[in-house]
Amino acid sequence: MKTHFLPRMIPDLAALKYKLLFLMLFSFSIQVYAQHPPVFEGMTIDTTYIVLNDLRVNLVRYGYGKPNINFLAIHDDEDTGIKAAFEYIRFNGGKVIDSQYGDVRNFKFNYWEKEYQTDPNSIYTPAGIKIGLEKYGNFNDEVSKQLERASKVILNLYHAHNKPDYMFTLHNNADGGFGISSYLKGYDLESAADSVYINSEMDADDLVLVTELALFNGLKAEKVNVVLQSREAPDDGSLSIYAMHQKIPYINVEVQHGHQEEHLRLIEIAVKVLKETYPDLKGNAPK
Ligand SMILES: [Zn+2]
Repeated sequence: MKTHFLPRMIPDLAALKYKLLFLMLFSFSIQVYAQHPPVFEGMTIDTTYIVLNDLRVNLVRYGYGKPNINFLAIHDDEDTGIKAAFEYIRFNGGKVIDSQYGDVRNFKFNYWEKEYQTDPNSIYTPAGIKIGLEKYGNFNDEVSKQLERASKVILNLYHAHNKPDYMFTLHNNADGGFGISSYLKGYDLESAADSVYINSEMDADDLVLVTELALFNGLKAEKVNVVLQSREAPDDGSLSIYAMHQKIPYINVEVQHGHQEEHLRLIEIAVKVLKETYPDLKGNAPK
């Protein structure tokens, strides 16, 4: 009995192993293709996902080297910042959280046969969630609660365990339209800015937005286009408003799509200013 049993089991096991290996390779290759920015060797990747009814939002966290600055990108159609942050962490260590939900700007999903849409950068305050949903159409209390829970998942992932000691976000914009000039007197975002510094040698679409005067002064000293968000800026539910209300120093480095080198340059300057301004940042690598 045994002599028959063993030879039959061994090939079966071998075949099973093969199948498992095949499945692993298969799912691995799918995973790699689904990630838009090119990953490099040694990078760690983990994914947390949020389900908004029929929309799945993947929060893909890429890490490399020693802990350093954590970056966050919340718009999936803005990839220049991710590429620049990859370059940054490749040489300096750190983490990047990239929100992936179909290469578009807005969250769009159905709930009980109605469509809902909002900008993911309007879900960080209750007032902003309402404004955000109504801007694109339908509002619903349960959907509003779902978005609030989604914002908490993103915040928790960004700095697990306790209140972050800073927030560093990355955005990209189109040529013309929104830029540093939007914050000047007489323009759209005048009321959102307390102070503006413009280096006329820089592209007006490339800028940094901060919530703390010390960061503004540091970036101004580096001759970088910079906006200090006003304490009275309207509550649009954006992360910068949330951070300001929570007294979390906030930096958004935002450049025109494709300005990758400039994005990296501004990230490097902003990290330097952040560390000089707050030498005791807990999220930092050992000095
Ligand atoms: Zn953005």
